[in-house]
Amino acid sequence: MLPCRLCTFKTPTPNHMKYTNYLLLFALTFALASCGQTEEKPKEHSDKNKMKIANMKLASDAHSYSKPEDAVVKHLDWDAVVDFDQKIISATANYKIENVSGTDVIIFDVNHLNLMEVRVEGELTEFHIGPDKKYLGQPLEVPITADSKTVSIKYETSKGAEALLWVDGDEPFLFTQSQAILARTWIPCQDSPGVRYSYNARVKVPSNLMALMSAENPQEKNATGEYTFKMEQPIPSYLMALAVGNVEFRAIGEQAGVYAIPSLIEAAEYEFQEMDDMLLAAEELYGKYVWGRYDLLILPPAFPFGGMENPRLTFATPTIIAGDRSLVALVAHELAHSWSGNLVTNSTWDDFWLNEGFTVYFEQRIMEAVYGREHSEMLAKLTKQELIAEEEDIRVTQNMPNDTKLKLDLLGRNPDDGLTAIPYNKGYFFLRLMEETVGRDKFDAFLKAYFTEHSFQVMDTDNFLAYLNDRLLTDEDRAAIDIDAWVFGVGIPANIPNVESDRLERVDSVLTEWVAGNAKISDIKWASWEYQEKYRFISELPESVSAAQMAELDAAFEILKTGNNEVLFAWLEKSIRKDYKAAYPRVESFLVSVGRRKFLTPLYRAMKETGKLDMAKAIYVKARPHYHAVAVGTMDELLDYSE
Ligand SMILES: [Zn+2]
Repeated sequence: MLPCRLCTFKTPTPNHMKYTNYLLLFALTFALASCGQTEEKPKEHSDKNKMKIANMKLASDAHSYSKPEDAVVKHLDWDAVVDFDQKIISATANYKIENVSGTDVIIFDVNHLNLMEVRVEGELTEFHIGPDKKYLGQPLEVPITADSKTVSIKYETSKGAEALLWVDGDEPFLFTQSQAILARTWIPCQDSPGVRYSYNARVKVPSNLMALMSAENPQEKNATGEYTFKMEQPIPSYLMALAVGNVEFRAIGEQAGVYAIPSLIEAAEYEFQEMDDMLLAAEELYGKYVWGRYDLLILPPAFPFGGMENPRLTFATPTIIAGDRSLVALVAHELAHSWSGNLVTNSTWDDFWLNEGFTVYFEQRIMEAVYGREHSEMLAKLTKQELIAEEEDIRVTQNMPNDTKLKLDLLGRNPDDGLTAIPYNKGYFFLRLMEETVGRDKFDAFLKAYFTEHSFQVMDTDNFLAYLNDRLLTDEDRAAIDIDAWVFGVGIPANIPNVESDRLERVDSVLTEWVAGNAKISDIKWASWEYQEKYRFISELPESVSAAQMAELDAAFEILKTGNNEVLFAWLEKSIRKDYKAAYPRVESFLVSVGRRKFLTPLYRAMKETGKLDMAKAIYVKARPHYHAVAVGTMDELLDYSE
């Protein structure tokens, strides 16, 4: 193993944010701690790096009460019982802590946890819970001394714990969604991306169910319902994850595998056969996968996102099981997070594009490596289409122009507000522009070094830009790219890279001809199209298309019967906007069974914007109990709904 070299932060340009010093200590600790985990450290720049570390400063996290510069958690032993009858988790969180500054208090984030007792060094102690703030919950203050090494907190989750979704019925299921700041609704924690800790867990669940975490996982159920977990690599709290259900495991290759309920396991095993190829392609691009196994857990359809990159075990929506492996880009995305996000982590939620923009770029490169450039360029073109539409919506319709900047300012807001196409897709095109400006070989070497040198550390926008300027860009490159416009500017800069896709252009032209009456329905080669082509055709249907023409398309291609949820979703949205009533029963059944917010928001919005608010509310009343809190929050606001 090579000796440790410290990271390469420079003094940030101070005009974009305010700074505190505390993460300097962290960065040093993490840089040292990570020595045992990354074998390859670049040989150059080391002296320069040692000088720079003294200047390293990162932005403070406005979304956590914790003050890790004073006292910080290093390890968690979590002992929990999952009670499906009462829908609560009873647990003890035993923390190993470090009193960094000699402070007399350690602060945790909690959000409506029922605290039973708190012990320091095994002794019962008084504790103080501060006032509840919207989104943030409360600070839990525990008195400690300079010598304190352990804090133990016995607690229960409350009924409405926002991270948790309890699914009733034939297949009872519990899953968590901690990102961005919901871990504190099921574990007292220092809930900031900059605080990393390792964990062990012991979890008791009903004996017919299996428990899984973002850790080393079981592959079989056991009769006692007791499971133990180990996560040796330090992770931030937003990557804490638990799922409990009647799942089975199937291996896919040496290092990868899939978990799903019995009725889905065959389909899942078939759908994700290429996971192992993706993993190899990813390692080939940007370095070794350091987390051990890479497994995928198929969650119930109520899961509010496409996927969540919980380390070692991606959580995924079942809506990506299409039967033909057409929606596996999502797996490439979550896998890519094993580097961008999980290894190099955004310092605060204002820097979310460092997690997501890099991940979309990496996802594209995996897709290109495994499926070819023609395929990945179709995806890139849809990414651009989505970005252009959503950017205009945020800037003009919602009148939130500052939310179209890569570098966000979410002070006083729910960090979930930052989860738009901007950090993902504008971030992607910014990186693609860099690649096209400096050349792919140079850019790949840069990215590989970036991930390796900053593994198990946090990164913020200004420090990334300093690193970028130092290590990659020439003055000429900088002039061509215009970093300020991309990162701190509103909207989409004019130099956004061009994406060519002959196949999607042919789709556009047959659509234009058909709408103009110059092409027959038989000229649309639907059956031979990939999902991207079908999606493009439907999503680009212009205003002028009537309900009768929608019926003609549906009769010819049986679109309502598609097994591809992206195509179905696009069709349902157009059906609502075109008053194509034959699709309405499917709109309802889809919305009542699926809780993925990416689908819900546009569908409910389409109803709202076309005078069908009553229809939207009637469906929502039935669907709402099945949705996760993050989807409920968004839909309540959209539909102006209150219980
Ligand atoms: Zn992501």
